[in-house]
Amino acid sequence: MKKILLIATGGTIASVETEDGMMPGLDGKALIERVPALKEICEIDTLELMQLDSTNIQPEHWAKMAHAVEDNYDKYDGFVISHGTDTMAYTASALHYMLENLKKPVILTGSQLSLTEEGSDAPDNLITAFTAATNDRPGVYLAFYGRLIQGNAAKKLHTEQFYAFKSINVPEVAVLKNGKLEYTAEYEKYLKVNSLPSSGDKLKVRDKIDTRVAVVDLVPGYKQEYLRAIVDAGCRGIVLNVFGSGGIPGENSPGNLLPAIDYAISKGVKIICASQCINDGVIMDRYEVGVTALKHGVISGGLLTVEAMVAKMMLELGEA
Ligand code: ASP
Repeated sequence: MKKILLIATGGTIASVETEDGMMPGLDGKALIERVPALKEICEIDTLELMQLDSTNIQPEHWAKMAHAVEDNYDKYDGFVISHGTDTMAYTASALHYMLENLKKPVILTGSQLSLTEEGSDAPDNLITAFTAATNDRPGVYLAFYGRLIQGNAAKKLHTEQFYAFKSINVPEVAVLKNGKLEYTAEYEKYLKVNSLPSSGDKLKVRDKIDTRVAVVDLVPGYKQEYLRAIVDAGCRGIVLNVFGSGGIPGENSPGNLLPAIDYAISKGVKIICASQCINDGVIMDRYEVGVTALKHGVISGGLLTVEAMVAKMMLELGEA
């Protein structure tokens, strides 16, 4: 039987009712004990790393999780990280970039209803996650609703529905059918052109993180002063969530933002553009409003999610 380490971090999956609302109260061992079917999939040890609502998870916790994998790397065939769903896509993205040369599966999962609640999705999600962790597919993935999603492509799109996470601009990796994970033909095809970052020999944790990154959503009427204020507050990187396939108001608009973009860039701030449309990413060289922005020095985020851009930028700035 494969040996898997459950790294418990909290989230709804581990929550119990309190006077002030749900909060994490079950440890990793309690999670495993409540789902006996897991013992038929693999041998499980637990590491009680933290008990947090994922709202409270910060980049330093990403580093803790990455080092927990590193410290136990040789002892286990794979890893499951139980985690709150609200910021799971950020953590999955971060770990995707932080765990370089990863040769084992690291699977994040959680649930919309606590394991203590009737009809919870937690048992199914844990079964999907442990099944994935026993597969020899290396990489960071998010397991939810019988599906596996590449770590840096996941986005939480529902606060209530069990099918909460979608894979954005990357095909779903696998689907659980009759207790077995079936890898999708679309993902296999995707992998042929997009290799995962795991080519070197030894696992290396990238843990230099610069958190001075902000996400800015453009709206019609957005003021230059807001962007300048973020720069003056010490921000080093901005994920600019722009309209459609990629445009920033320019000289033809009373809301011309280009002088503020120039100001930010002159101060050494990196600006990467994402699209407010969830799917298909940005194609900045399509319209004049995008081409001009590129000429002013913004970078295209392409098909990446905002979550992935934030994690990637924090690491790149940390290493600069
Ligand atoms: N607030 C919870 C968390 O992110 C929500 C969840 O886990 O579903 O920890």
